[in-house]
Amino acid sequence: MIISGKELSARLKAEMAEQVASFPGKYGRVPHLVVILVGDDPASVSYVTGKAKASEVTGIRNTTIRKPDTISEAELLDLIRQLNEDDTVDGILVQLPLPAHICEARVIEAISKDKDVDGFHPLNVAALWQKQPCVLPCTPKGIIKMLKAAGVGIAGKRAVVIGRSNIVGLPVAKLLLDENATVTIAHSRTADLPSITRQAEILVVAIGRPKFVTADMVSEGAVVIDVGVNRDPETGKLCGDVDFAAIEPKASVITPVPGGVGPMTICCLMENTIECFLRRQG
Ligand code: NAP
Repeated sequence: MIISGKELSARLKAEMAEQVASFPGKYGRVPHLVVILVGDDPASVSYVTGKAKASEVTGIRNTTIRKPDTISEAELLDLIRQLNEDDTVDGILVQLPLPAHICEARVIEAISKDKDVDGFHPLNVAALWQKQPCVLPCTPKGIIKMLKAAGVGIAGKRAVVIGRSNIVGLPVAKLLLDENATVTIAHSRTADLPSITRQAEILVVAIGRPKFVTADMVSEGAVVIDVGVNRDPETGKLCGDVDFAAIEPKASVITPVPGGVGPMTICCLMENTIECFLRRQG
């Protein structure tokens, strides 16, 4: 079974559009997401465009603020401060990566935790690890939604996550743990990775290496979630971290790239914006 993140996200966005359409009558306005893009990195431009399109589909107001990559850290922090204080703004997202002269951690920390729709603020991260109410990071949240939509039971399963980044590996491991999976986190220093991945009933791969996970690393019937977004060095086309063609016949459930986790990430960004809006309405 191939889980189409494209189809699932389209369905969820249609439901959100209905919900958002009721907001002007109830609250006098719709949620407002502000996206800040620094510089003109093509991948970042395309991600920001995707976020604007999803906002349009769901009826969320989107403002994209573009700044040159010469902007100073102080100017960017000042812009964020103004948006924090602006009552008409519900969500603030600064597209990463930022130019080297700007400290990403300081920028993330500057965003009000209540408008941090990415769920990257240290207070949201701490709340996630303490099982307190928080804004969940979009990609991990989307992965859990995909597993549930595909009817995959998570409780009691042996889950392996390859990758331990703050934005994907660590939080998805915590969400799987919260769903009562038994979780192993693997990384670049893991010894004998294939022997670990072969134990996985649920395998989540977030490393950023084209087709790194090969068929011999996956057990028969495993559920495989591919987070990677890479260029295939041979074809130049988008591909994941998993060798999809070789693993699809072996896996019980698998996500494609493109059209898998990516669309669910944007979908969850919309959901987080609505959640932040509703929380701010009291
Ligand atoms: P990252 O910050 O670069 O982290 C990569 C992780 O992979 C690190 O923990 C690293 O281990 C591990 N790793 C690297 N090479 C490895 C190897 N040979 N064996 C085992 N582990 C290895 O990357 P990220 O931000 O988590 O992103 C991962 C991928 O997901 C990228 O392709 C990115 O574009 C994609 N992504 C997609 C979405 C989406 O919505 N679809 C969202 C976010 C990211 P160490 O910690 O030991 O260095």
